[in-house]
Amino acid sequence: MSDWIYEELCKIVGEENIAKDVIMKKHTTFRIGGNADYFLTPKTEGHICESIDFCKKNDIKYYIIGNGSNILVSDEGIRGVVIKLFDNFADYVVEGSKIIAKPGILLSKLSNIAASKGLTGLEFAGGIPGTLGGAIAMNAGAYGGEMKDVVTGVKVLDAAGKIITIDAADMNFGYRKSVVSQNNYIVVEVEMELKEGDEEEIRAKMNELKLKRTSKQPLDLPSAGSTFKRPEGYFAGKLIMDAGLKGYSIGGAQVSEKHCGFIVNKSNATAGDVLKLIKYIQKTVHEKFNVDLETEIKMIGKM
Ligand code: FAD
Repeated sequence: MSDWIYEELCKIVGEENIAKDVIMKKHTTFRIGGNADYFLTPKTEGHICESIDFCKKNDIKYYIIGNGSNILVSDEGIRGVVIKLFDNFADYVVEGSKIIAKPGILLSKLSNIAASKGLTGLEFAGGIPGTLGGAIAMNAGAYGGEMKDVVTGVKVLDAAGKIITIDAADMNFGYRKSVVSQNNYIVVEVEMELKEGDEEEIRAKMNELKLKRTSKQPLDLPSAGSTFKRPEGYFAGKLIMDAGLKGYSIGGAQVSEKHCGFIVNKSNATAGDVLKLIKYIQKTVHEKFNVDLETEIKMIGKM
């Protein structure tokens, strides 16, 4: 039987940029997730705008992902279209101390580019395993730096299907959120302003932060980073440890023994295992400390 959705999407993005029944565990750092019906890797702004327009007109659900480093995908997979903005859409230009980049570029690459040009300001981002688009949506940050500090403007596809440019002042950047995540915008370009610095010093800072990260985080096991947002006045990892949950596991999902703020995929964990563990942690921490932990990771598909 012909698959009209596939055929129409093919016309928009080209056969080389679409696949069917794609296993999502290969596209998430958690290494969890069932099949997505359609999986697009657009190369241009036009591809993105037209595929979303097509989905909206035909009442087909769509989800935007970058490197899948902050998501938990359902074991049943995703009914609809996944649009992955990654290496197909990752060009950049450096103009003096300004970098203008597409959302699919990895933060690790971006911070290396900045370092090689002697530009300081993106050292904090070197070890965050996401794309620029995901980092803008989440206002990603680490070790005292966040995207908010370097972004001057963001070009997005808005809910009405229009490309608009948002100045940094109107980005509503907050703790792990921005106007992008609040309004379901899609980032298509980002402008950042950095400062002139010394390449050697920048690289030394990046190495120092890398060492801190490897010594504290369970980078040898699949995860989606910090499971929970930092609750006001506390650290999620410390609360979970003090609740006696270090190493606690359900199925293949485990509270990391190295950093309790992370849930790791110890052995073929399912999304169901992770979800049960999240609920157990929330319940236990609430009972012991009367603190409500809110998830930082985004759930996609039917849980
Ligand atoms: P995804 O996980 O693919 O998506 C996350 C969200 O962003 C989704 O809602 C998605 O729809 C949206 N999104 C993605 N691309 C776009 C786009 N182009 N336009 C609009 N929305 C988009 N995070 C930190 O902030 N600091 C850390 O120090 C940190 N450390 C981590 C360490 C590890 C080991 C891991 C696995 C994760 C860590 N994270 C950290 C979490 C994660 O890397 C960041 O949130 C990152 O910014 C997510 O980017 P991504 O491309 O992987 O987004």
